[in-house]
Amino acid sequence: ILEVTGLRKSYGSTEVLRGVDLHINAGELVCVIGPSGSGKSTMLRCCNLLETPTQGKIVANGHEVTSPSVNINRVRQDIGMVFQQFNLYPHLTALNNVALALKKVQGKSTSEAEELAMAALDQVGLAAKAKSFPAQLSGGQQQRVAIARAIALKPHVLLFDEPTSALDPELVEDVLNVMRDLRQRGMTMLVVTHEMAFAHAAADRVVFMDGGVVVEEGSASDVFEQPREARTKSFLARYA
Ligand code: ATP
Ligand code: MG
Repeated sequence: ILEVTGLRKSYGSTEVLRGVDLHINAGELVCVIGPSGSGKSTMLRCCNLLETPTQGKIVANGHEVTSPSVNINRVRQDIGMVFQQFNLYPHLTALNNVALALKKVQGKSTSEAEELAMAALDQVGLAAKAKSFPAQLSGGQQQRVAIARAIALKPHVLLFDEPTSALDPELVEDVLNVMRDLRQRGMTMLVVTHEMAFAHAAADRVVFMDGGVVVEEGSASDVFEQPREARTKSFLARYA
């Protein structure tokens, strides 16, 4: 459902992605791990055109993201994204943060947008907080609103860039539980994370990136329990 082939990205003379190949099948939860600066965020951002790839091909749900004639709006509807910083509008309620995208991107009426937004908030367990403003919510709740905003658009793939890194430790599990629940419902997800226990237990596949390439990938148990590459072994040793 998401195919990345030979993806390269340079900033000036620095090549950050040096030929990334990645395939994600419908319904899979794929976790991307790797050291800081290895290009994980850049890879995700290329997938929904927050960055322009220098070279390579990305196809999402049959649409070529890297085509010169691409419709960026269409790409952003096919591929949702959840960031480390939740990027909610502080002056809008949780409900309106979710409804706004439905109105702006999908042209829904206010009443339809609010109905769909409420359903999305309910799915992340926050229906009761619909009228709260971001400042009245915990970090974990804010991140769940951000997830509701992404799923309300019914994307084919959801990208997460370290969704729990900005959270207090006791709030991390709430967000991971929402992600586990989405997986049960069949959502296709590509998740950059430092939560190794989550990746090990919840991911269908794990991709280890280093130096702008995919060094190793496989089932979670293969990558965590029997890594083949020396770089994977030394990276994982830091978390043991
Ligand atoms: P982290 O785990 O710290 O989030 P990462 O794997 O997500 O790291 P990226 O953010 O993709 O890494 O960055 C990869 C490299 O690209 C880094 O060396 C970074 O300095 C560089 N880089 C990222 N964005 C830009 C930019 N806009 N201009 C120049 N260099 C950039
Ligand atoms: Mg990053």
